[in-house]
Amino acid sequence: MGKVSPMDVAFEEARAAAARGEVPVGAAVVGRDGTVIARAGNRTEQDVDASAHAEVLALREAGRVLGTPRLTECDLFVTLEPCAMCAAAIGLFRIRRLVFGAYDSKGGGVEHGPRIFAQPSCQHRPDVIGGVRETEAAALLRAFFRARR
Ligand SMILES: [Zn+2]
Repeated sequence: MGKVSPMDVAFEEARAAAARGEVPVGAAVVGRDGTVIARAGNRTEQDVDASAHAEVLALREAGRVLGTPRLTECDLFVTLEPCAMCAAAIGLFRIRRLVFGAYDSKGGGVEHGPRIFAQPSCQHRPDVIGGVRETEAAALLRAFFRARR
């Protein structure tokens, strides 16, 4: 079997989250060789936990799997620009590269709002690549919120 694209995995998780009635955001943590180590979708409703965002769940799982809180050789793929909390967690876990889909002008904390990685207090700045499959990621979110109205 060929390697799956980590962004495909993140999208699968986002769609699965939508099917559970969660905001459709999905994330995948990938190791140095491109293997997906952990994957998660939002679980704030299911876990009754407002902080159960896809990124935080995937980072925690990857740390458990690798047995270290420092994911210095790992990349995080996520379908939406991380919020301030998740961006801070990405820094704490020392993720090498962050790749995200849609930009989030309201809730984003990387390219918008608090711009966590640009703060002097930020101890670790990952490489950031935003706007990957942006149209698809934004469409998923729009469809979800349209259906809920
Ligand atoms: Zn978040």
